[in-house]
Amino acid sequence: MTVQCQKCGKDYEPKRRGGKFCSVSCRVVQHQLVKKGEAWPNPPNGDERYLAEKLVAVGRSATEALVQVEGLPAAEAFSRLRALVEGWAGVANNSIIEKVQYNEQQEMKAQATRVKRVRASK
Ligand SMILES: [Zn+2]
Repeated sequence: MTVQCQKCGKDYEPKRRGGKFCSVSCRVVQHQLVKKGEAWPNPPNGDERYLAEKLVAVGRSATEALVQVEGLPAAEAFSRLRALVEGWAGVANNSIIEKVQYNEQQEMKAQATRVKRVRASK
């Protein structure tokens, strides 16, 4: 049974039970990003759940959100959820939505940083 790496989103065969990352480098990089506040402490699956729970709080069900991203790769699922939240934010613009969007901005910043690093190392 394969699981999705909680750093890069790749499907892989876990070497041990409860493993979250496909490689040592994914685990280390994720840990460093979390430490610097550039990534969420919760991995993508957790983020999706977190987001869905917040949507419940603004009157949307987790099922309603998650059913639309079911089976998608993490990155795509996340952008779908973002679009949903942005659409709903107009209806329920409150601190919960702002928090979700703030977290997402942090994640986008972290991704931009990673891209820069990759370019710099070439
Ligand atoms: Zn990985």
